[in-house]
Amino acid sequence: MNIKAYGALAAEQPLKPLDIIRRAPSAYDVQIDIAYCGVCHSDVHQVRSEWAGTLYPCVPGHEIVGRVSALGGQVSGLQIGDLVGVGCIVDSCQSCADCGDGLENYCDHMVGTYNGPTSDSPGHTLGGYSQQIVVHERYVLRIRHPESQLAAVAPLLCAGITTYSPLRHWQVGPGQKVGVVGIGGLGHMGLKLAHAMGAHVVAFTTSESKRDAAKALGADEVVVSRNADEMAAHAKSFDFILNTVAAPHDLNAFLVLLKRDGTMTLVGAPATPHPSPQVFSLITKRRSLAGSMIGGIPETQEMLDFCASHGIVADIEMIRADEVNTAYERMIKGDVKYRFVIDCASLTA
Ligand code: NAP
Ligand code: ZN
Repeated sequence: MNIKAYGALAAEQPLKPLDIIRRAPSAYDVQIDIAYCGVCHSDVHQVRSEWAGTLYPCVPGHEIVGRVSALGGQVSGLQIGDLVGVGCIVDSCQSCADCGDGLENYCDHMVGTYNGPTSDSPGHTLGGYSQQIVVHERYVLRIRHPESQLAAVAPLLCAGITTYSPLRHWQVGPGQKVGVVGIGGLGHMGLKLAHAMGAHVVAFTTSESKRDAAKALGADEVVVSRNADEMAAHAKSFDFILNTVAAPHDLNAFLVLLKRDGTMTLVGAPATPHPSPQVFSLITKRRSLAGSMIGGIPETQEMLDFCASHGIVADIEMIRADEVNTAYERMIKGDVKYRFVIDCASLTA
């Protein structure tokens, strides 16, 4: 089916209206009419080919929510009209150990929601800045929040799971001191989730203007990371730090805040590498530096249900599709509280 979308034809071009084709649903497919799609910093990295290898036309968007509008004959457990979500994954091999463990995010053949290989036109996947998407049922999530919160649920599909998964893996909970570095789309979800898990949460921001706001999001303390005295006051005190920063920076400044056996996990994926950390920042307290990528499908459903039962959604600013180029510039400047979400009804306006 021909549908409206918003995307770019080249790295140096702005996004613009495009017509794209979605496949007709086959036996295990779910066709979704997209209501809203969040704007992730990864969309900017990809559409501008900052990570290299972007295929054009590029239609970004992997924080997708909407309603089921058609079902393949073999799909079970979903009805037309159900509220559903699609995150960063639309396919995987379904037979490797990672897929068997429900960690499709680490499958060597994971297909991303955009820029991934597919036999559909035009030969690579096209994301959620569009009216509709067709996805195998395995990768479709159930949304149990009230419908009135649907737009603010969209960012959970990437920002939510990318922060939830490492917080769970490193067993964050009561009695622990946890830092979240970079209070953007991912970071603001990290604050909400770590707070709901019962940790003592410290926000690290470069933006003085976020000092009060970060407390409202769930931080017990806020550190402006440009202030050396504020940083030094937290030396050797953290069990876990989640680093969401989208730009290269000095990791030592945060590693030395970990106590013995503490871990800092990187989820931010800057286009150019961080300066290599000093070995003495690690060996002196047996500290670990780790990474984590989104999360698997079962854990994404677990995160959505955790958020529904704790009343957690993202703080969003709704935009029309034709405002997305401006939204990118504002996000790069840190001028977003805390996630832009596209109203996909604007694609036809
Ligand atoms: P975002 O909304 O732009 O937030 C990033 C935040 O990092 C900013 O709000 C800012 O927070 C801080 N920051 C930005 N530039 C900085 C600089 N030069 N120095 C220090 N701090 C800086 O981006 P996002 O959507 O949360 O994504 C963050 C990163 O995670 C991106 O690189 C994205 O591609 C990546 N990502 C990774 C995964 C994964 O699976 N690992 C999934 C999704 C996204 P303050 O104003 O508070 O300092
Ligand atoms: Zn994302």
